[in-house]
Amino acid sequence: MTAQPDLPPLREVIARHGLSANKSLGQNFLFDEQLLKRIAAVPGSLVGQPVFEVGPGPGGLTRALLRAGANVTAVERDRRCIPALEELAEAFPGQLRVIEGDAMKIDAAAETGGPFHIAANLPYNVGTALTVGWLTSEAWPPQWLSLTLMFQREVAERIIAKPGTDAYGRLAILSQWRSEARIAMPVHRSAFTPPPKIMSAVVHIIPGVAPKGVSMTTLEKLTAAAFGQRRKMLRQSLKGVPGALDALRSAGIAEDRRPETVDIDEWCAVARSLGSGSIK
Ligand code: SAM
Repeated sequence: MTAQPDLPPLREVIARHGLSANKSLGQNFLFDEQLLKRIAAVPGSLVGQPVFEVGPGPGGLTRALLRAGANVTAVERDRRCIPALEELAEAFPGQLRVIEGDAMKIDAAAETGGPFHIAANLPYNVGTALTVGWLTSEAWPPQWLSLTLMFQREVAERIIAKPGTDAYGRLAILSQWRSEARIAMPVHRSAFTPPPKIMSAVVHIIPGVAPKGVSMTTLEKLTAAAFGQRRKMLRQSLKGVPGALDALRSAGIAEDRRPETVDIDEWCAVARSLGSGSIK
């Protein structure tokens, strides 16, 4: 790899560009370059790989990704951060493209133009919605090769949750029915400026093989109905979903069970048996 450019400390970048953290944009910055390097290493070698980053802010994770050899497309909503990111683009010629905009409205595949990794210290206000969007891609395998995402610890626990636990629900099923999800590292609240009230964790998700004959829409509707009333038995919570009680029976799942006791293979069996016909 070519020599790495010398970069000013992140705190100096923040001070020079007047980037005081804005709570409404979910801004909690990371300055520890060793930690950022470890996060950028989670997806494996990124040399020459396209990476889509949401919310680069002053560019801490961005510089770690660039040093790892990635070609980064970064979307930042806060205009104040753009000059700092442009300096970074100059330091790594041809490796960083900065888009000023809202990641909720941007088509990452169109912007990166091919399979890409996603890495982000996500803004908490849109993090779950973005992740659900990536996980519910119609096309499978999806355009993204991996997700390396910082979440509040509690959200990370919901992503990797196993049946029979309080954290198990729709997010676990969406994250695991055709992907592998793990917590790559816990991150202490004191690593952020300003520190949030709660702990965080980096989650790593890679696409796997989708079970045959299972419609994403059907699985989503079933789990939305069931976990929307998670204390109720399936007999009650699924009665509004046409054909669901018959599908439960065909899959050999008792109607008096509660949704958190039904494992992912069983949910897939119910969705398969229900098909996609009756669910819009
Ligand atoms: N990546 C930086 C770091 O690790 O220090 C900043 C992370 S901070 C938790 C989240 C960043 O996302 C902020 O810079 C914020 O301005 C940006 N952001 C918030 N909402 C956004 C959105 N809808 N689209 C793009 N960026 C957004």
